[in-house]
Amino acid sequence: MIFIWGSRNLASTKDTGRFYCPKCGKVDVGYRHQSARQWFTMYFIPVFPIGGRTEHIECTRCQTPFELTVLDLQPPTEDDLFLRDCFERLQRGRSLETVEADLVESGRTTEQAVGVIDDMTRGKVWECERCGAHYLKGVRKCRDCEGLRELPARNVQL
Ligand SMILES: [Zn+2]
Ligand SMILES: [Zn+2]
Repeated sequence: MIFIWGSRNLASTKDTGRFYCPKCGKVDVGYRHQSARQWFTMYFIPVFPIGGRTEHIECTRCQTPFELTVLDLQPPTEDDLFLRDCFERLQRGRSLETVEADLVESGRTTEQAVGVIDDMTRGKVWECERCGAHYLKGVRKCRDCEGLRELPARNVQL
């Protein structure tokens, strides 16, 4: 006699709702609160459960499973998004001075703006020899005067 046995994951939906999915980056996305348990099967029929129950939150849009704590996650605020945008602009080659002006315009004092930029750049900054503008390391060209950053000797072509 041959026994055909195995195991199977049986999940049931405990609850549904809407949440902020960090993977989709969207608010008000549907989720399923899933409760799952591994079952021992005989002839493909679940006979008894193996191990404990595990619970997770599953996004109905991207199907990603998350820990239950994902429901406590707050979506980024307007200001979070603005700061992220500021950082991206520094990376794309905007001068520190330009982004600082934008931060001041957003309602910060000059000191706060400088503090934010310090946090973003952490001293990884270079100064344009020609006009004195400052850029994040990795940016090769001064946008204000088209001045090129002084490159190490081995990169200079004669
Ligand atoms: Zn999602
Ligand atoms: Zn310059």
